[in-house]
Amino acid sequence: MVRPHGGDASAARAENAKAPQIPDFGRRLRELFAPYRRPLAITVSLVLITAALTVLPPLLTEQAFDQGLFPAGGPNLPRLAEIVGAMVLVWVVSQVLGVWQTWLTANVGNGVTASLRERLFTRLQQMELGFFTRTRTGVIQSRLANDVGGVANVLSNTVSSVVGNTVTVIAAFVAMLLLSPPLTLVAVILLPLLALVQRRVGQRRARIATKTQESLSELSAITQEALSVSGILLAKSFTRQQQETDRYAAESDRQLRLQVRQEMTGQGFFASVQVFLLIVPALVYLAAGALLAGGATGITAGTIVAFTTVQARLTWPLMGLLRVALDLQTSSALFARIFEYLDLKPAITDAPGARAVPQDERLGRVEFEHVGFSYPAARPEEEPVPILRDVSFVAEPGRTVALVGPSGAGKTTIGYLVPRLYDATEGVVRFAGIDVKDLQQDALRGAIGIVSQETYLFHATIRENLRYAEPEATDDEIEAAARGANIHGTIAGFPDGYDTVVGERGYRLSGGEKQRVAIARVLLKNPPVVMLDEATSALDSVSERVVQQALEAASSGRTTIAIAHRLSTIVDADEILVLDQGRVVERGTHQQLLRLDGLYARLAAQQSAERDAEEPQPA
Ligand code: ATP
Repeated sequence: MVRPHGGDASAARAENAKAPQIPDFGRRLRELFAPYRRPLAITVSLVLITAALTVLPPLLTEQAFDQGLFPAGGPNLPRLAEIVGAMVLVWVVSQVLGVWQTWLTANVGNGVTASLRERLFTRLQQMELGFFTRTRTGVIQSRLANDVGGVANVLSNTVSSVVGNTVTVIAAFVAMLLLSPPLTLVAVILLPLLALVQRRVGQRRARIATKTQESLSELSAITQEALSVSGILLAKSFTRQQQETDRYAAESDRQLRLQVRQEMTGQGFFASVQVFLLIVPALVYLAAGALLAGGATGITAGTIVAFTTVQARLTWPLMGLLRVALDLQTSSALFARIFEYLDLKPAITDAPGARAVPQDERLGRVEFEHVGFSYPAARPEEEPVPILRDVSFVAEPGRTVALVGPSGAGKTTIGYLVPRLYDATEGVVRFAGIDVKDLQQDALRGAIGIVSQETYLFHATIRENLRYAEPEATDDEIEAAARGANIHGTIAGFPDGYDTVVGERGYRLSGGEKQRVAIARVLLKNPPVVMLDEATSALDSVSERVVQQALEAASSGRTTIAIAHRLSTIVDADEILVLDQGRVVERGTHQQLLRLDGLYARLAAQQSAERDAEEPQPA
């Protein structure tokens, strides 16, 4: 099965199969943890106190025997009760401290995760429209869900594990050094080797983790594409469900193999480490024998027994530290993916000192001066193709400028340049007399209402969808807007009225109803400029008339840039620009253009012939 994006996915995989690189990884991690200095400091103190408390039970046991149970004059019950009380207290206190510590680390770990997730979402909100046309939604969702979720566990477990195990390891080393420095040397001589091997294993794991996360995002993209309303409609209408299922199963299988590989990478290493740690005591006997044979003093049988006992206690904390180090290295692959998105630079930003839209007589004026535009090329080696060339026009406040022309001529693209969804690559676009690049984006977009080719509605009630345009709107204002957009009657006819849930992306409404909801939204926003993009193209003539009336309400008293295929909808426009291959080839009023007898006249003749053919002939 040939899929349009199949090549992209494999290219992305090949490109990303390298070890993740994060400049300033350490600094960025510290920065993430910086707001949590206090809980971290408390955690470290709690771990230290708990470690110290673990020393007490053996001492208390010794006292229980020597002073409580078997003192010289027979059992001393009051003393025994004191000691047992102290034992109970120690255990209760360490458990309470343990719960407190878990609460702190859970807060820190999840707090850092939440802050990563929120920063990522904020950054994505700032990205320009072009980013979203280039990136699959499922892939974006996966970074937010799988990558951020993946680091959460590591973050929560790392702190307490590192502190607790480090304390034990250091204490054991000190004890070993006190017992015998030469034997300690024998015991630790191979440890740097372990660290070296661990690094390599970690790097391998990180590489596999990168692929695992890519596979997860592919799974997420397939889910999002195949299980959306449009996706399922497409699959059903072309009977491609089996292929969709196979595609999902293949990626799921890849995910399975990668997960197993990731889990198994390092198991051999850990087994070797364990063997190594278990045989070191034997090596210590050998070393002690050699030292004794060489005439060394100060090594008694007691020293060797005590030394190897302490050393055996070292095994698990050391393994714990190695595991944490490995987990951190593995999670660096996830961090790399998160930081890669956090480091994205939005292509369209507010210029320093960007201005508000002036509220004077220029408000509502839209001007294009020798504007040229190319969409960024899909691949860096390709040259961008010019889409608009030398487009100039002025829409005076309250006037209507219509854009017509063959499909692909660049009409929608012109509409994108006004609210800076894309920036013109040549020339200047002015709004209210000011270059749009010098205006605050929010102020600019706040002054423009857009009814686009595709109406997007949230899975919420009609009322909530309308209120999106104006959160403060009262129910009366919402109803007035709906009346203006010719949709109030339809909404009132639904059993739940304005509280009808429109379904995923508004699928429970017809195309014409959705468009009128979109128009009502613009009426509520009440901007000085509206852009209407082919809003009536998909409708029959009755619905078109209803929508047309709504559109007239939307454009009344506002500057209107109307993009239309049906010329009947724009005959009254103050100026009509005829576009062909990105250039304005004709301009004028409907009558002037008909008289010109050029492209517009041809389009008009063609459309009226089509209309005549569609309309029923009199019997
Ligand atoms: P229609 O009447 O069919 O809607 P239009 O005149 O509105 O067409 P545009 O949507 O502006 O045309 O597209 C103009 C050209 O730009 C088309 O050739 C299209 O392939 C190309 N194009 C549109 N969007 C992008 C994009 N995001 N990246 C690259 N090229 C694009």
